[in-house]
Amino acid sequence: MVRLDSFSSQLPLHTRREWLRRVTMSALALTAPATGGAFEWKVVQENGRDYVRLQDIKTFYTFPRLQREGRNSWLRSNTMIIKFSNEAEDIFINNVKFCLSFPIIERDGSVLVSRMDLAKLLDPIIRPTYIENAQPFDTVVVDAGHGGHDSGAVGPYGAEKAYTLDTCFRLEKALKILGYKTILTRRSDIFLTLGERVAIANRTPRCIFVSVHYNSFGSSAMGLETFALAPQGTATTYDELKSSDMNNRRGNLRDSENIALATAVHANSLYKLRSVDRGVKRARYSVISGIEKPGILVEGGFVSSSTEGARIHRPEFRQTLADAIAGGIGNYRKALMKRSSVPQRGRTS
Ligand SMILES: [Zn+2]
Repeated sequence: MVRLDSFSSQLPLHTRREWLRRVTMSALALTAPATGGAFEWKVVQENGRDYVRLQDIKTFYTFPRLQREGRNSWLRSNTMIIKFSNEAEDIFINNVKFCLSFPIIERDGSVLVSRMDLAKLLDPIIRPTYIENAQPFDTVVVDAGHGGHDSGAVGPYGAEKAYTLDTCFRLEKALKILGYKTILTRRSDIFLTLGERVAIANRTPRCIFVSVHYNSFGSSAMGLETFALAPQGTATTYDELKSSDMNNRRGNLRDSENIALATAVHANSLYKLRSVDRGVKRARYSVISGIEKPGILVEGGFVSSSTEGARIHRPEFRQTLADAIAGGIGNYRKALMKRSSVPQRGRTS
């Protein structure tokens, strides 16, 4: 059960009452699930890994409908549609892309989802009020990527380090309007080590951490991607599984909050910017590995692209991204108090 008691006292009264009602509902749901008692997952072992059946996910989370058509399956409720494709390494929740730790497989007619992805991806997104010990926060540590001698990505219109700093000033203003305290890891064109950025977050009480970057890859790559720390024992989105992936990182304490925060920020940014969706992905970048607070890294678009680079160069784009990240943070805070954090982005494909 989420404990946000101290935090709730700062909310307007009607919101607080609503919050209490929701928490009470969640508590009831915990003791009396729709299945009428303790639920027994049927765990299937494949490739030395645990999987669960999509049919059981439907039952446990009380999705009214599971539809199958060819290699695709959809779990549907009034507020959420999740699309699974056999052998795929990603799923779509309300049309927003999420990279899985392990692909979807089919065995003996059953569609299987890895237990890891159920615990570390689906569960915190479907019911964020169940995130254990979710940290109340009133402060956002805003980290402008790169700086000083480290320009980051350099595109035809400018350098990442300048765009990130400008975006973070705008984000600071947007967050203050929403009532958050903010700390910027840098306020000028200086170089900070990744360790220094992590240390600022770790010594700030009641905070979450958002690192803002822009991307680079050739001249045609475009889109928005948001990174949450890879869970212990899983590969990052771009790499094969290696032995060091078995090590626990400090940030893994916050796995559930990390993915819920990434979901809220990514979905809102995608919706507001109408960017290409490159997905919520997994990484072990130092800034998100080392922090003990909920944290994410946003790649707002490609400065290397002639079209997206031109978009990013316009202040209106950076303002929209900043407002969208702030709004996503607000949605994350609300999601911890609701029964589901549904990314809103039109119909599913
Ligand atoms: Zn960067």
